Amino acid sequence: MAPVLILLGPPGAGKGTQARMLEQDFGLIQLSTGDLLRAAVKAGTSAGLAAKAVMAAGGLVSDDIVLAILRDRMAAPDVAKGIILDGFPRTAGQAEALDHLLAETGQKITAAISLEVDDAAMVGRVAGRHTCGACGEGYHDQFKRPAQSGVCDKCGGTAFNRRADDNAETVRDRLTAYHAQTAPLIAYYDSKGVLERVDAMGKIAEIRTALGQIVAAIAA
Ligand SMILES: [Zn+2]
Repeated sequence: MAPVLILLGPPGAGKGTQARMLEQDFGLIQLSTGDLLRAAVKAGTSAGLAAKAVMAAGGLVSDDIVLAILRDRMAAPDVAKGIILDGFPRTAGQAEALDHLLAETGQKITAAISLEVDDAAMVGRVAGRHTCGACGEGYHDQFKRPAQSGVCDKCGGTAFNRRADDNAETVRDRLTAYHAQTAPLIAYYDSKGVLERVDAMGKIAEIRTALGQIVAAIAA
């Protein structure tokens, strides 16, 4: 059976990178809710027109419309090798509705893969980042300091930039929001026996291998 995957992970866990690698390695197609909506609106499908009307009125597109758009998209031949869903479902209710949709065509979620991060380590990773204001060279308070404090190794510049949202508090808040939002989804897929947890703190290549093993086992 062609895999139907859901990739879950907080900002910074490498979800986008890994999804692209799964596309390369297995011919899967990543379906992101935002892209799907935009494409359906542009194509003028009935679900797309419904979404357009809601968005024009400043409303949130309902689950029914998103599901209808997803149903249309999954009927296209290019998704025959499987899909990775991105941005949907976000709630246990949406997950249940998605299960019903998939059942119409004899499909089901084959794996909900949670990219697991260590929150404290994530905060450390993101929070110390800064770049040289002159040449853009990246530095980190813990992992990559310039040889001479306050002077860029590459260009000798002495001004450094820090992104306002790369501070510890913001990162912690993002992680807290992520866990609160996804906990019911994780519990839902765990209860269905399709939850896979992958350690996302390792090297990109290691995570790719771990994900590859899961997908290969499903496709076999
Ligand atoms: Zn520099």
